[in-house]
Amino acid sequence: MPDDHASSADPPVADGAAAPSGELPAALRHVRVLLPLPLPALDYLATPEGMPLFEPGCFVRVPLGARTLIGVVWDEVDNDVPAERLKPVVEALPTPHLRPELRRFVERVAAYTMAPPGTVLRMTMSIAAALEAPHPRRLCALAGAGIAALSGGQRVTPARQRVLEALRDGPKLAATELARAAGCGPGVVRALVAGGLVEEYLAPAEPPLPASPNWRLSGPPLSFDQSATARQLVDAVTTGGFKVTVLDGVTGSGKTETYFAALAAALAAGKQVLVLLPEIALGAQWLERFRERFGVLPAQWHSDIGAAERRDTWRAVVTGRARVVVGARSALFLPFPELGLIVVDEEHDSSYKQEDGVIYQARDMAVLRASLAQIPIVLVSATPSLETVVNVARGRYQRVVLPRRYASAELPAVRLVDMRQERIEPGRFLASPLVTELAKTFEAGEQALLFLNRRGYAPLTLCRACGHRFECPSCTAWLVEHRFTGRLLCHHCGHSETVPACCPECLAAGALVPCGPGVERLLEEMTARFPAARAALMVSDLLSGPRAAAELARGMTEQRYDVLIGTQVVAKGHHFPMLTLVGVVDADLGLAGGDLRAAERTYQLLHQVGGRAGRAEHKGRVLIQTWMPDQPVMKALALGDRDRFLEAEAAARRSSGLPPFGRLAALIVSAGEAEAADFAARALARSAPQLPGVMVLGPAPAPLAVLRGRYRRRFLVKAGREVNLQAVLRGWLSRVRVQGSTRVQVDIDPYSFL
Ligand code: ADP
Ligand code: ZN
Repeated sequence: MPDDHASSADPPVADGAAAPSGELPAALRHVRVLLPLPLPALDYLATPEGMPLFEPGCFVRVPLGARTLIGVVWDEVDNDVPAERLKPVVEALPTPHLRPELRRFVERVAAYTMAPPGTVLRMTMSIAAALEAPHPRRLCALAGAGIAALSGGQRVTPARQRVLEALRDGPKLAATELARAAGCGPGVVRALVAGGLVEEYLAPAEPPLPASPNWRLSGPPLSFDQSATARQLVDAVTTGGFKVTVLDGVTGSGKTETYFAALAAALAAGKQVLVLLPEIALGAQWLERFRERFGVLPAQWHSDIGAAERRDTWRAVVTGRARVVVGARSALFLPFPELGLIVVDEEHDSSYKQEDGVIYQARDMAVLRASLAQIPIVLVSATPSLETVVNVARGRYQRVVLPRRYASAELPAVRLVDMRQERIEPGRFLASPLVTELAKTFEAGEQALLFLNRRGYAPLTLCRACGHRFECPSCTAWLVEHRFTGRLLCHHCGHSETVPACCPECLAAGALVPCGPGVERLLEEMTARFPAARAALMVSDLLSGPRAAAELARGMTEQRYDVLIGTQVVAKGHHFPMLTLVGVVDADLGLAGGDLRAAERTYQLLHQVGGRAGRAEHKGRVLIQTWMPDQPVMKALALGDRDRFLEAEAAARRSSGLPPFGRLAALIVSAGEAEAADFAARALARSAPQLPGVMVLGPAPAPLAVLRGRYRRRFLVKAGREVNLQAVLRGWLSRVRVQGSTRVQVDIDPYSFL
């Protein structure tokens, strides 16, 4: 398999024999340096006097124009540029080298996604400060009085309490980072320092060794199913080598404990472990379970961590001091020297697809990284993606199954509510079967969850007098009313304006009406129908950070709420023992539009949400409100027949040659003016490839025809699996010159069809 440009059905897996081993110990007069920029690698002069040898992988500082930048010495140069024309390298940095395996990874990700290698390299470097020699810093720690206050010795304000808890539970941080972590202003931290509850000290440049996860601790005894499955995962780790195992287990089957066994085995073998989670910020319960199992928290990597923690974590990874990293998709690019296992939890989750910058599918690229590193990888899900299911069928991935919920918990009963038969008064969205079940649940002292994948109060606001609709000035999108903040918001570009008192079009006063439900409006209905029920909203835009989410989850576990209303942030990972009823308010929402994965995604999401019900001794039930009860997704959910649904999906995609049975790429042409976008789109259309097995659809205005003020046109390129799609696209793009502000973005294996 020389250079396999594969689709996600066919992740670009490395050939074991081709994996390079060891550095090239060549002293080069010329060095080729890849910079974290969209440029090809550049040649520099390695002045031999007094300089160490620049081996490939070495981080170096080099001049570029008037600046100096940090880059990485890349492999072999052909030395054809005369030395006089080259500028010398400024210095080598005291950072462990970027290993060959990671350099190959950068090249392969770049080739696959068609991004410049430099922009992929930037993801492995993450933060420039991590590459510099570290300086001492002022950090905060709990003082004796702070510890006393935490154990109830002294009453403190909630904000101060959060700061103290952050110090107890998390890493040592500088004052400003600490304030951010605790979700308060820096004044709170200063006051605690002044009051002697927190002390600041000068920390050594490299943070002290974080306590390593203790793999010798024994976890809970595993069930019979779990042990059998865990044994196979552990075997893959101890045998070593590249192997993809799909851990397929129903919600609540104890998949986490099971893969923890593999994690322990990798740690015992002296290896590092990477666990990818979708939206890690919301994984507070996961972290808690990790701590229970291994005694300490793992290193974390996601968008919510501050610059200093990011730098420390990067260095802890590269020096091998961080043994386990749990992170969002970008953690995949961390420079592990001793990686021995990758786990991708909720592998079907579409948030693994990065949609801007380098557009990549982190699950697929994780498989690539594992193949380059020759290590096992575990893909975990209750609803594996069709790509993964097909790879199991093709014998590329091995599947292990947990068919039952852990202990006595049973899977919830699922019932469809046919909305065509229901009479609901205008402005209300809960049909009577759901209302009845809610009442029963509250009477029994149990908890409910209402799911609606729509933030805000109402998705559309219009004027009753003239019909005016509020639209984003720079996107093809309605503005969504958010009552808590009193604003109209564009969910695509963030544009926001206050809700006006009169219609801006006809000036009628008090004529604006909300249309359709958002979670905020559901909360209102909930309060009106059940004034005694304690309801909480769980929506990303109303949570100030991971701590707030964790706090809300704790409130739910401790039964401080009777009902949680939320968007997809409630769907994942949570385990609330007293939650027995899940109501899906508008199940059809995700099915609209031309998205090839719409049905699959809806199935996964609703199954996942439903999986929150009845996870402990109390049996759960799920009510799904739908206008399309005959739709295959809805039927599959009601019958709990996942495999038949997947077979039908697979058959449909196979017959239309769509992934994972064919290759697909999107080209998005965008420009500041509609004419420029059309001009470029026509030029591309004229030179579109005409090759056997390749079909070009478009150009067509994108569904989001205007986004952030840019006009967008789309092409879809379909090809057979035997086609090297990237080569076709490269050839095509090289025949067209786009000018000015026009951009062409390539999205291989697109997930978003907007
Ligand atoms: P999944 O990830 O498959 O949805 P979880 O791993 O969250 O399931 O497990 C469901 C619940 O069962 C959790 O509360 C977990 O702590 C518990 N559990 C799973 N395995 C065990 C075990 N071997 N011993 C005790 N509790 C377990
Ligand atoms: Zn907008």
